Amino acid sequence: MAKILIIDDSKLIAEFGKSILTGKGFEISYAPDGLIGLKKAKAEKPDLILLDIVMPGLDGYKVCEKLKADPDTKNLPVIMLTSKGEPADKIKGLGLGAVDYITKPFDAGELIARVTTQIRIKELYEALQEKNRQLQEMANKDGLTNLYNHRFFHEHLAKDVQRAQRYFEPLSCIFIDIDHFKHFNDTYGHQTGDQILKTLGALLLDSIRASDLAARYGGEEFAVILHYADLETARAVAERLRKMVASRTFRIDEKEFHITISIGVATIPHPKITNPQDLVDAADQALYNAKKNGRNRVEVFNEGT
Ligand SMILES: [Mg+2]
Repeated sequence: MAKILIIDDSKLIAEFGKSILTGKGFEISYAPDGLIGLKKAKAEKPDLILLDIVMPGLDGYKVCEKLKADPDTKNLPVIMLTSKGEPADKIKGLGLGAVDYITKPFDAGELIARVTTQIRIKELYEALQEKNRQLQEMANKDGLTNLYNHRFFHEHLAKDVQRAQRYFEPLSCIFIDIDHFKHFNDTYGHQTGDQILKTLGALLLDSIRASDLAARYGGEEFAVILHYADLETARAVAERLRKMVASRTFRIDEKEFHITISIGVATIPHPKITNPQDLVDAADQALYNAKKNGRNRVEVFNEGT
């Protein structure tokens, strides 16, 4: 049930409001002055605050300002309670971030209507935020494997490379490609191929640190960003992945399959790699060498060293 905090120095007004709102199923918390009100708002995160303007000490305007200035409380909707009817006061409260005002002494029907409207708006806003978060997540992910997609990988890599260069930290990128995957699809069908991609994606996610990033780069190609990983660390990670996949039995529809992967590794700092695209090209070049040198192997980019 929605929680409402009433901040009002008049106990009588607060009790009146409380009796009306509890009757409608709202849970009420009460603060007799601005300071206690601010503390309770922060600690209790109510769904709505009813805030008196005229109070000794911190008045309602100052409380509203402080609520809006604190990231913990800035999104809590505030309805100002005013016993003065002057338009200037109402406009001032709205200008400070209040969503509405109610003139005291309030009418029970009006109080319930205004409170219910604001709570509903807050719920809709939160549902919208959640939807947006989900949409953003979907836009960044590959539908089949649920790994990050090509676009997100590049966005992320650009920031990661910049950061690594600024702080002189090593950063590695590994490119992974399933060997003879076209032949696999032609032989067993795309549905089986897709199951392999899904399983491999899950394996990848399982074997990297939470701080690293795995993406489906395209087709049967995957890319992983390893933060703070120098060339030897990245090579070891790649080798571990290669062995794990080569020794694994993939079971799909009660049939058993075996695949191998080829991996290219590139790391910064490197004299030939100055930007994110260089790093991608270097990892891709190393992957190409792994294919050329017989597949089911790891190659590192070391041209020019
Ligand atoms: Mg008052």
